[in-house]
Amino acid sequence: MGTTSEVWEFYHYRREVVQSKEPNARHLAITECEARPDRQGQRVVVITQNINELHHKAGTKNLLEIHGSLFKTRCTSCGVVAENYESPICPVLSGKGAPEPETQDARIPVERLCRCEEAGCVGLLRPHVGWFGENLDPAILEEADRELALCDLCLVVGTSSVVTLLPCLPPRCLPGQHQWPNLTWEPPQP
Ligand SMILES: [Zn+2]
Repeated sequence: MGTTSEVWEFYHYRREVVQSKEPNARHLAITECEARPDRQGQRVVVITQNINELHHKAGTKNLLEIHGSLFKTRCTSCGVVAENYESPICPVLSGKGAPEPETQDARIPVERLCRCEEAGCVGLLRPHVGWFGENLDPAILEEADRELALCDLCLVVGTSSVVTLLPCLPPRCLPGQHQWPNLTWEPPQP
């Protein structure tokens, strides 16, 4: 992990790139999958480890983003999580965060970086995403676990399942009558 300035430069750049992107055919197909059973009185839940909100942008409603979102912030003082689509997220980050290795750290003082706007709090904001080594939101994990235990069908789409955590989830559907046709499964290498 770099300095606070480097972290925000990196996430600012990612937010700017993602905000310019549109959902692809796969996102739209998954949204259509959700809409069709809804018309038949059934329910589809999308559990994703993506943080780019493209499922949301495609219109998916029942969405569990277990790794958080690029477009949410969390206050390091009061803990409030808030949506944030500002571009740039704070003025001092404008034009910063180019991905080239030779890019210099802008060394932005922490006090000029993104700050909480809750009444009486000016705490430093951080991206509301799960970083390596951090615990993810237990409420969302429990909800994902519950949905996987209850579901009649689990489709695993668009992942090699080699990133930790989510690979643990699909096998929870295995006992009993559950089916999980995996469209992209590549077993982790030993
Ligand atoms: Zn705060």
